[in-house]
Amino acid sequence: MGEEGKAPVVAEAHLVDTFHPPQKMLDKHPSKPHISSLEEYQKLYKESITEPDKFWGQKARELLTWQRDFDTVRSGTLANGDVAWFPEGQLNAAYNCVDRHAFKDPNKVAIIYEADEPGEGRNLTYGELLREVSKVSYVLKKMGVRKGDTVAVYLPMIPEALIALLAIIRIGAVHSVVFAGFSADSLRDRVLDGQSKVVITADEGKRGGKLIGTKKIVDDALKQCPDVSGVLVFKRTGADVPFTPGRDLWWHEEVQKWPSYIAPEIMNSEDPLFLLYTSGSTGKPKGVMHTTGGYLLGAAMTGKYVFDIHDGDRYFCGGDVGWITGHTYVVYAPLLLGVSTVVFEGTPAYPNFSRYWDIIDQHEITQFYVAPTALRLLKRAGDDFVKARMPKLRVLGSVGEPIAAEIWKWYFEVVGREEAHIVDTYWQTETGSNVITPLAGVTPTKPGSASLPFFGVEPAIIDPVSGDEVHGNDVEGVLAFKQPWPSMARTVWGAHKRYMETYLDVYKGYYFTGDGAGRDHEGFYWIRGRVDDVVNVSGHRLSTAEIEAALIEHHAVAESAVVGVVDELTGQAVNAFVAINKGVEATDALRKEFILQVRRSIGPFAAPKAVYIVPDLPKTRSGKIMRRILRKILAGEEDQLGDITTLSDPSVVDKIINIVHEAR
Ligand code: ATP
Ligand code: MG
Repeated sequence: MGEEGKAPVVAEAHLVDTFHPPQKMLDKHPSKPHISSLEEYQKLYKESITEPDKFWGQKARELLTWQRDFDTVRSGTLANGDVAWFPEGQLNAAYNCVDRHAFKDPNKVAIIYEADEPGEGRNLTYGELLREVSKVSYVLKKMGVRKGDTVAVYLPMIPEALIALLAIIRIGAVHSVVFAGFSADSLRDRVLDGQSKVVITADEGKRGGKLIGTKKIVDDALKQCPDVSGVLVFKRTGADVPFTPGRDLWWHEEVQKWPSYIAPEIMNSEDPLFLLYTSGSTGKPKGVMHTTGGYLLGAAMTGKYVFDIHDGDRYFCGGDVGWITGHTYVVYAPLLLGVSTVVFEGTPAYPNFSRYWDIIDQHEITQFYVAPTALRLLKRAGDDFVKARMPKLRVLGSVGEPIAAEIWKWYFEVVGREEAHIVDTYWQTETGSNVITPLAGVTPTKPGSASLPFFGVEPAIIDPVSGDEVHGNDVEGVLAFKQPWPSMARTVWGAHKRYMETYLDVYKGYYFTGDGAGRDHEGFYWIRGRVDDVVNVSGHRLSTAEIEAALIEHHAVAESAVVGVVDELTGQAVNAFVAINKGVEATDALRKEFILQVRRSIGPFAAPKAVYIVPDLPKTRSGKIMRRILRKILAGEEDQLGDITTLSDPSVVDKIINIVHEAR
């Protein structure tokens, strides 16, 4: 590393266990994984890096249906920020997700809708999906939506959310989904920034047994969006909601007026497919833009190889369609591959903590994908809730944050009964699909490591001080990528300069992820968390994720967040915020135990100087811990917390402020 001096801490690299794909997973496999061995992965990976045109050209023709073939596989460079994939190619995304499967087998289940209330769901076949999508496409055209226009979608997790997206892209418009938990102000900002002309929403939402006034929020937001000319409202609960004649239309009334087939609009590969605002862990949300051909290929490729999706699989991603995980892995990957995808309206805690496991059991789910925040909640609830048999489950995915080894093992042993392969998938809204990840059935895994790069992704570890790439193994730094890959974001909507500054100008010639990472002695990658979250104690660059993983090993700890505060002696000192399990009492002795836990597990230099026991941590609506808020509170800058509209429960902020004040 640079002049910061001392080597960073890589405590786990030489100590961890390696888990191979379980034999039982292979035994229950309907055939065999798409890739036969780690050696085959290595061979293909090498080809994807040294001969990307050959590799991706072939995969693009194999996995997608093109109306017009491409001549060029890729053009442009990271340095110039003008990357394009398959530029002469033409295709339609909805055709690829729906039509081609509907023509082959119209009765195949496309969507398994699991309603908030168990037992109230239904299935939709590919044939039905094609008809529903076509009708909504007509409705949107009638509402004045043209090729290239943006349509905002503010819907709960119901099949109509998928139908809406597919109808938008069928006519060549661009979807901009706003997570239906966001406030009216957040929705307004995103509608304005994306220049949406039409909004698709529902009368109300239903989640965890509670009703949400969806339409009312839209009405509030649109008071300040003069350019929105139409609102299409799906009737979910039948509640009496305000209606603006001339602007609002009922979904169920409009779709009746139209035929059940409309020809898809033929799009260029590089035409925008969607905008999506990042979850906002770090600051002002950015409208990340993805294009058609490259994004679709990334989704199909990772669905096929990371999750080892096979024909007949039933795939369940617990992410909301308001986030990139929901886009790529609830909608695009499973539908592109023609399998059944679960659309789950509810929460993992309703009617009780068994809900996910019951869904997996009942629908004979083969792959399940969720965020560590949900796993922490469910582990905290207790193993008794994991009673369902889940006999078909082969793959368990994790996404969104580093997963602590303790949680990883619980997922593997208690949920998967050591019969499913865990894939800890690292990626971002901006990467479009998984970029560092094991391949199910193939890659050996180490708890806490996202393992190896996906095809076409060439990671580089960069020394943040010198800005130079560090080669070889057993190195630490920040994570960047050296080559463009098909599903990378092409720009930030209306702010290409911001795109360049954030991702491509930081280290010229590289895509900068903003995350810290290590590459261990075997070339496995360990994501340390956001660069802004790294703590520097006496020249040791400590990963907050690693200290948090150590804390969670203590039986009383449910969740923790670690941040650095200015310290006269050591530059920065570690401070920890800990949420403890139910029934445990917050005492000074317990705080000391937590400090000891970190000393033992990592080393004395990593021991927290202060431990705050708090009822909950500040989290984004996608469940990620917002350490930025905690840093500000500790610095006494409570009045400069910045944008906290993306917090799921802003009231925890005041509670934490009080606890910190009392402790001082
Ligand atoms: P914003 O960019 O607005 O601050 P965000 O980064 O939380 O929000 P996302 O694109 O949803 O928005 O999340 C990507 C980030 O999540 C990554 O940069 C990384 O920090 C973290 N992440 C995702 N998956 C993993 C993983 N498997 N292991 C570790 N970290 C992960
Ligand atoms: Mg980010």
